[in-house]
Amino acid sequence: MSTIVAISTAPGIGGIGIIRMSGENSFSILEKIFRQKKPQKIEDIKGYTIKYGKIIDPKNKQIIDEVLVSYFKKPNSYTTEDMCEINSHGGVIVMQKILEICLENGAQMAEAGEFTKRAFLNGRIDLSQAESIIDIINSKTEKEAKASIHQLNGFLSNKINDIKKDILDVMVDIEASIDYPEYDIEEVSYQKIEDTLYKVKGKLEELERTFYNGKIIKEGIKVAIIGKPNAGKSSLLNAILREERAIVTEYEGTTRDTIEEFMNIDGIPLKLIDTAGIRNAKDEVEKIGIEKAKEIAKEADLIIAIFDATKELDNEDKKIIEEFEKKKAIIVLNKIDLISQADKIEKELEYLNKPIVKISALKREGIEKLNQTISELFKINDIQVDNETIVTNTRHKEMIRKAKEYNNEALQTLKAKMPLDVITVYIKEILEALGNITGENVSENIINEIFAKFCLGK
Ligand code: GDP
Repeated sequence: MSTIVAISTAPGIGGIGIIRMSGENSFSILEKIFRQKKPQKIEDIKGYTIKYGKIIDPKNKQIIDEVLVSYFKKPNSYTTEDMCEINSHGGVIVMQKILEICLENGAQMAEAGEFTKRAFLNGRIDLSQAESIIDIINSKTEKEAKASIHQLNGFLSNKINDIKKDILDVMVDIEASIDYPEYDIEEVSYQKIEDTLYKVKGKLEELERTFYNGKIIKEGIKVAIIGKPNAGKSSLLNAILREERAIVTEYEGTTRDTIEEFMNIDGIPLKLIDTAGIRNAKDEVEKIGIEKAKEIAKEADLIIAIFDATKELDNEDKKIIEEFEKKKAIIVLNKIDLISQADKIEKELEYLNKPIVKISALKREGIEKLNQTISELFKINDIQVDNETIVTNTRHKEMIRKAKEYNNEALQTLKAKMPLDVITVYIKEILEALGNITGENVSENIINEIFAKFCLGK
């Protein structure tokens, strides 16, 4: 494989910058561009050591920067290839210049995620572990980072490999009875195979179930704030976010577009969507906003329906109720700092059987209670990530679902006393679905798609 190079630290100015190189020519390129006070042969430099020196441009012998270079010798490196990391000063120009010199001396520009892709292709980590690295980098909360670290440490891979082992046992049993039909092992095999398939079913279902929390950990809870114009949607959004992001105005229907923001409740990201007022719109722009609001309310995991408690409920409020009555929702009665009818409205809305929280968005009162209600509704405190395998990736969940379906088919075939070799068709499909998670038989397109989401230099 070619020798690749990239700037691995974030774009912009920093204390130090890291230029990373991997591949068989890493050290020979380094020899051309790196000068130590006391030159050492590469054979004499141990892996996992750091050397001080200067990067020079071999064309004109000009010094580019003073650097520290870390050496990683194959196979003990991130990619399993010979690698080095040049720690330069974190100036954009300096890092760019060092990168150029590496390129001029034989390295190729790495693609996004190519270092990690090599770690996978060279067999150091499997695909689910590689995917966890991007999740660690993109983690928005500690819980998400923890779940991703577990995945990198092989929690998920071990579970998948364990199920694969069960399935391979089934395969062995089937083959034995197909190969030696003269022995009367059929009956025994049927029972044994059925037991194993049931065991696999249980394991797959258990993994699939973890995705409910996994999705919450990774993608967060999508919350739509809905309510009539002037009920206080923008003010609530601001109060929750504690900063003036959404524009609050005295006029009705000004929050025309939607604003998305993230916040963090007990370690779970909350994706807040502020929507335009839901009402019978007169002008076109307003209409688009309202359609969008309805659409977003449909997608949301949670609806916060906000009512102006200084006013009686009217027909427009009834329309709001229609939007959330069959969904996971919290009713918020706003403006309790003014003379309000909050208690009366609370009674009127009791029949909906939803949590009701009274607040003043303006005075930021009751926001803590609202956060607590959200946390309780999603049982956030019960979401444990320590020592748990949690499926957070939709691709993995889809493959587990597929494997489960084929497993069910296999069980049905077995119950129908069909010949055992019919089952092998399903067994192979189960293995393929599981292999897609760990990456043994995944297509190149999918691999490229996965690694394209990485950052450059990772
Ligand atoms: P939206 O149209 O639903 O987004 O409503 P806004 O957040 O723009 O609020 C409409 C008006 O009500 C603004 O003048 C706010 O200052 C005011 N308002 C919002 N929440 C409260 C509250 O808790 N108490 C009082 N007194 N006024 C509020």
